[in-house]
Amino acid sequence: MTQIKPRKVLEKIKPYSPGKPIWELQEELKLDKVVKLASNENPQGPSPKGVAAISAGLADLHRYPDADTVSLKEAISKKLTVEKDQVIVTNGADELITLISEAFLDQGDEIIVPSPSFSEYDFGADLMGATVVPVPFDEGFQFNVERMIDAITDKTKLLYICSPNNPTGTYLAKAEFEKLLKAVPDHVLVVFDGAYSHYATAEDYTDGIEFVKAGYPILVLQTFSKVYGLAGLRVGFGVAPREVTQTILKVKEPFNVNSLAQAAAIAAINDDKHVEVSKESNATGAQTLYKEFSELGLSYVETMSNFVLVQLGPDAENIYQSLLEKGVIVRYGKIWGLPEYVRVTIGTEEENTFFIEKLKEVLNK
Ligand SMILES: *Cc1c(COP(=O)(O)O)cnc(C)c1O
Repeated sequence: MTQIKPRKVLEKIKPYSPGKPIWELQEELKLDKVVKLASNENPQGPSPKGVAAISAGLADLHRYPDADTVSLKEAISKKLTVEKDQVIVTNGADELITLISEAFLDQGDEIIVPSPSFSEYDFGADLMGATVVPVPFDEGFQFNVERMIDAITDKTKLLYICSPNNPTGTYLAKAEFEKLLKAVPDHVLVVFDGAYSHYATAEDYTDGIEFVKAGYPILVLQTFSKVYGLAGLRVGFGVAPREVTQTILKVKEPFNVNSLAQAAAIAAINDDKHVEVSKESNATGAQTLYKEFSELGLSYVETMSNFVLVQLGPDAENIYQSLLEKGVIVRYGKIWGLPEYVRVTIGTEEENTFFIEKLKEVLNK
């Protein structure tokens, strides 16, 4: 038995528990077919240009990657028309959330998070001994900007907005976001998580980048794991005022983004066709799921993203389990305090059909 005491704050933290991988479920239940609609991955697969770039980079694997990710930063800054030193590249956006926390949070500081949202924000705060101040959504999981502004204190350091929000699929309208930014005092950094920005189609949606350009104290976070289909490679990035990116660089490991990931991301961000196809398939899939849910009498939250939060009622946990046993992996909502809901990633046409077929079997419809 070891007497080595972990840091006090770790008492609050449990290791991340991922959804079951496909192979595990398949082996466990001897299933022929398993469809995973649990992690909001791109069902179209990776950007083909990204895959090609990886093959080209294999011969140089004996070299360390570019610690400064110069070429990728160039590609990102060109795509988004921001300055290169406004960009920071990380090992997935998850790493960026940890780095932001390490760079800005002292013990006792506060972060404001709409609730329910992405769990990594809380993890970053817990890790640093900071306090999470959750702000519940309004009816229909709509953001309440006034309540977020009211939650700001002298101790607030970070205020998170995930738009479209994971797990609800709802978004914050541009005018509302602007109102928030104007009300936020100087000592607060607004972190805008745009992991699903590409999927948002509402006229009044903003991906936040224009507010970085306008000089607001905001960091916009994006990822290559979702629409670009490169979740297995782990690349994400942030766009923020120069002083913010330079501060975060102080806590970054030198070689955090591997060379294959850098190469693939450069190719993927310019693969407009792959992005277009992915968005179109997602929009069609959303309509299919809406129609089927309506016919089954299930309420759902209209999504601006690549997943749908659907209300299965008091029996949701059993339905979720039965779906698992039939080879469909979705995310059960209890972790977000939504025990009557599951979140289902919009899949390919075939995956959506399989999911609906199994759902009907489980519901005896
Ligand atoms: C998936 C996701 C991310 C980023 O994921 P990485 O794979 O770490 O880049 C960030 N924010 C939200 C809300 C997500 O759902």
